[in-house]
Amino acid sequence: MIDDETPVLDNHLHLDPDNHRGIDAVRDFAHMGGTHLLVVNKPSWHLGVEVETGADFREVFERTIEIVAEADEELEGRAWPVLGVHPGLVSRLVDDRGFGPENARDLMRAGIDVAAEYVEAGDALALKSGRPHYDVEDAVWDASNAVMRRAFERAADLDCAVQLHTEASEDLTEVAEWAEAAGLQRHRVVKHYAGGRLEGPIPSVMCEKDALETAAERGDPFLMETDYIDDPDRPGAVLGPKTVPRRVRWLLENGHADAVRNAHVETPDLVYGIDTEGTL
Ligand SMILES: [Zn+2]
Repeated sequence: MIDDETPVLDNHLHLDPDNHRGIDAVRDFAHMGGTHLLVVNKPSWHLGVEVETGADFREVFERTIEIVAEADEELEGRAWPVLGVHPGLVSRLVDDRGFGPENARDLMRAGIDVAAEYVEAGDALALKSGRPHYDVEDAVWDASNAVMRRAFERAADLDCAVQLHTEASEDLTEVAEWAEAAGLQRHRVVKHYAGGRLEGPIPSVMCEKDALETAAERGDPFLMETDYIDDPDRPGAVLGPKTVPRRVRWLLENGHADAVRNAHVETPDLVYGIDTEGTL
C-alpha cells in the first residue's frame, strides 16, 4: 500500500482551466494517494488561442499557472506548471494558417522565449518543446528541430529541464547530444509519452503495466505519467488521473519498491531538482 511518506508524482498531465473539471481530476488523483503533479499547458489552439506573436502565449500560460495554484491546494505535496509550445502547432500554422516553415519556427521560438520568462520568474518549473510525432516535410521537420534546440538553449541559461513531445522512439541519442551542445545536461531532458526503455533523454513512461515493468527492471532513471488530457470530447483517449497512484500500488505489491523510489523521489530530483519527500 502507499503510505504517508511515499510521494506519488504524475510527470505529465493537462488540466482544463475552465469549469473546474480540472480540479475534480486533481481530487481523484489525491484521493488515490497521488501527491505531486507536473501540469503541462494545453495546446494553445485547444484553448481557442490562435497565436500571432510570442506574447499571445501568455494567456495560455497564465491560465495554466492559475489552475496549477488551485491544484496545489488540493494536494498533500505540490503541483508545478510546465510551459511551452506544443510541436503540433507547426502543422496548424503551416497547413491551416498559411505560415511558411520559417515564420512558424520564429513564432514558436518566441513562444519558448515567453515560457522561459515564467521559469526565470519562478512561476514555472520547466519548459515543454519537441517535434511532430507524425511525418512532415523536411522544411517543417527542420523548423521543429530548431524550435527544440531553442528550448535547450533557454533551459541551459535557466538551469531548468525540458519535457519533449517527439515521435515514438527508443533511441533519441542525437537529441540528447543537441541538448548537451546547447549546454544542457542530458538528464535534464525528458521524453514524455515514452515506453519502458529509452537511450538519450530520461523516459517519462506511460502507465501501462508492460512498459512500467520494463522500466522497473531496467533500473535506470524514469518517471511516470498519464498524459491525462482533461478533454471532454475525448474521454478515455488517454489514461485517467487515478492511474499513476494505482500503478504505484501495483509496483509496490509486485516487489518494485526501488522503482517507485526511482520514479517518484530520485528521478524528480535528478531532472527538476525538486524534493518530493520534503514537500509532502
Ligand atoms: Zn500531453
